[in-house]
Amino acid sequence: MARAEFQTLPGTRDLLEPESGRVRALVERFAIEAERAGFGLIVPPMFEDVGVFVRIGEASDIVSKELYDFEDKGGRDIALRPEFTASVCRAFAETRPLIPWKTWYSGPSFRYDKPQKGRYRQFEQVGAEVIGSDDPDLDTELIALAWRFFQRLGLTDVVLLLNTLGDFAERPVYLEALSAYLAANADRLSDQARITMAVNPLRVLDSKRPQDAEVVADAPLMVDYLSDDAAAAFDRVRQGLRALGVPFEEAPRLVRGLDYYTRTTFEFVAAGLDAAQTAIGGGGRYDGLVEALGGPPEPGVGFALGVDRTLLACDEQGVFEPVDRPVDVWVVATTAGTEGLQLVEELRSAGIAADRSYDGRSMKAQMKAANRSQAPIAVIVGEDELAAGTVSVRTLRGEGRQAPVERSQVVARVEEMVRSSPS
Ligand code: AMP
Repeated sequence: MARAEFQTLPGTRDLLEPESGRVRALVERFAIEAERAGFGLIVPPMFEDVGVFVRIGEASDIVSKELYDFEDKGGRDIALRPEFTASVCRAFAETRPLIPWKTWYSGPSFRYDKPQKGRYRQFEQVGAEVIGSDDPDLDTELIALAWRFFQRLGLTDVVLLLNTLGDFAERPVYLEALSAYLAANADRLSDQARITMAVNPLRVLDSKRPQDAEVVADAPLMVDYLSDDAAAAFDRVRQGLRALGVPFEEAPRLVRGLDYYTRTTFEFVAAGLDAAQTAIGGGGRYDGLVEALGGPPEPGVGFALGVDRTLLACDEQGVFEPVDRPVDVWVVATTAGTEGLQLVEELRSAGIAADRSYDGRSMKAQMKAANRSQAPIAVIVGEDELAAGTVSVRTLRGEGRQAPVERSQVVARVEEMVRSSPS
């Protein structure tokens, strides 16, 4: 096949059926779980003032390297969203809904990432956030919501990693200890880790480079520097997860990519995925972010799940497979008039999925198309049927029975057949 003049840009893809239908089905499943838990949908804009995203942490890769930012024709500095949390906090500060405000979302996010399997420049996320309460039970409920969602998809090899980053008040003391330790061991760290250390020492704990592993293994940990309040909140979350039967692994070096996290942080990893893409979701508390975006000092907690990676994990496990969804009826019309056009319209108006062939194809070609469509039923009208005021209704699976039906009875007959068919 000749190469098309234009191709999708690196890190972007066309999602076509059945994969596109699978994405939609996954989002619908998530919507059901979120709405059942009292979350309302938010649809924020895909681009915002770049400042909204800069507030999530200038030292993070997401902001410093991966932001799709540009000046629009009005001279505004804007960026495509790299995630939803900042937009949700901006929306809260702007519209001031009643608290606790529980909201869920789905849609694409954009990061100028290095494209590879499971890592795209435009990727789909679903997520949920709660603003206006620091009750640790909310952390637990959010984690349980994501966990239940994964379980319902059939994903059994997901591991929940749990940590706490404490409060901003005690963080400087910890950061000082961490920085001192890293500085003392700088000669054993990778060049990259030494650069990260100067900008954001916490992120060194996140280094995936084998060279850094030994130093990181003995680094001081936030859990040893927690205030009484933060320690009690963490206990409450662990107690809650145990009560709900949600298994977790404590991961004292889990810091996550953004700087705004406080207290509970978590990540869901799928064991079957390639090392760099194992995270299928993550989240945590961000008790200072709303205020940083010019809102009241309301705490927040939430998570985002990567739809593309979740589906890759489903592929690995052979669950939530893509399904073909054929129409119920294929209309085969070889008359010169508008019979085909009218039949599909009547069927569709009655709520029956119907399709047909175009371009005046022969009966043979249309029957071939009907079989290829995998529709269980064909409704056939040729000159003979037209003269007799009937249509032929034919089953396309099994032995293929065909019977004439009065033209005026065709919708009722097909409805009956669709209702009684097993699939
Ligand atoms: P993060 O805010 O980075 O934790 O992102 C939340 C989730 O979105 C991750 O756990 C991934 O599943 C997904 N995600 C993040 N970046 C990408 C990307 N470039 N391509 C595909 N999925 C991504």
